[in-house]
Amino acid sequence: MIDRRDFVLAAGGVVAATAAAAIGAPAFAQPAGRKIGYAIVGLGGYGLGIIIPQFKNCQHSRLVALVSGDPAKARRVAAEHGVPERSIYNYQNYDSIRDNPDIDVVYVCLPVSMHAEYTIRAAQAGKHVLCEKPMAISSAECEQMIAACRKAGRKLMIGYRCHFEAANLEAVRRARAGGIGKLRYFRSEHGFNAGNPSAWRLKKAMSGGGSLMDIGIYALQAARYMTGEEPVSVYATETTDRSDPRFREVEDMIQFDLEFPSGVIGSCMSMYSANQNHILLMGDKGRIELEPGTSYHGNRLWVGRGRENEITPPPGPGATQWAGQLDHMAQCVLQNREPVAPGEEGLRDMRIIEAIYQSARERRRIALRS
Ligand code: NAD
Repeated sequence: MIDRRDFVLAAGGVVAATAAAAIGAPAFAQPAGRKIGYAIVGLGGYGLGIIIPQFKNCQHSRLVALVSGDPAKARRVAAEHGVPERSIYNYQNYDSIRDNPDIDVVYVCLPVSMHAEYTIRAAQAGKHVLCEKPMAISSAECEQMIAACRKAGRKLMIGYRCHFEAANLEAVRRARAGGIGKLRYFRSEHGFNAGNPSAWRLKKAMSGGGSLMDIGIYALQAARYMTGEEPVSVYATETTDRSDPRFREVEDMIQFDLEFPSGVIGSCMSMYSANQNHILLMGDKGRIELEPGTSYHGNRLWVGRGRENEITPPPGPGATQWAGQLDHMAQCVLQNREPVAPGEEGLRDMRIIEAIYQSARERRRIALRS
């Protein structure tokens, strides 16, 4: 049976009626005037450098609290962004966010090994959670996060920003509309040159794995949302120079093939030793190509038989992919709806990632549970 999901087009985006292979934000009715308050946990490259500056582009979201292990940094950022001193927390007094009614959502921007703990503590404090990708270091942790949020009656969303990125939304819309005919082949390479060997990304206990966890996950996600199908098997091979000090604990290159129920073949490469960011979907009537495909800025889309026809997509659901993501979660909270990338979506990727690692280790094809 073809496992193509039931998609709905809305607001220039594409929305899945199920949790699987979803992309795009639904066109919710305008909510009441209240803006949803976010606490950012982890003032690092992503939380401070990318997310915090985005609140100025949001309609339904505002920054109200910070959680950091560095009090001086937290005070400086709070002053810059109008966060009151009483709403600065550290990792020890984090649980007292329960007493702060300004905080609706906790956005976890910490190393991967900390995602589960800080998501579960947020849910226990009565807060909704937006957690960065990859969701956690194991599927078992993902399950615990989902259970904690469910038990607390709180929403859980994963920071898959490409679900709000205009070029990706337009690519998915065109693939679903049949513009390139019957889908045959998907390909994606994602990588960057990893730097400092002591960085948490290169420590297995903190990252859960190497390039696949951090950057290859974009290729896996794209394989699922571009085809609209769930893979039925994986076959992977790993190539890592273990004498390179960066790769003592985690993998560099991992190549994985995905088989889909309709017969589409996916071929993905993830690496920490070269820069690449590319998505290609081939059908029997043409192709859709994104390069770069999942960058912060400047993604480019071609549709046709080659690279003749570059498409300028209509704007996505937010002023930027991050504003779209923050406001989507805010609207889900305001209107009691399920996010397009809920915890189950992160869990699904994590189960496939675990199968990819198993395949590379055991040098055999691994069938995936549906
Ligand atoms: P980073 O190293 O720049 O920041 C991590 C933050 O966590 C820092 O503020 C650090 O002080 C804090 N921290 C607390 N305890 C720590 C500990 N024991 N060890 C190390 N740091 C600790 O990392 P980042 O790039 O901001 O990544 C944070 C999360 O965001 C990760 O889950 C990552 O995958 C995700 N991320 C997502 C995107 C995206 O495009 N969606 C991009 C970059 C990072």
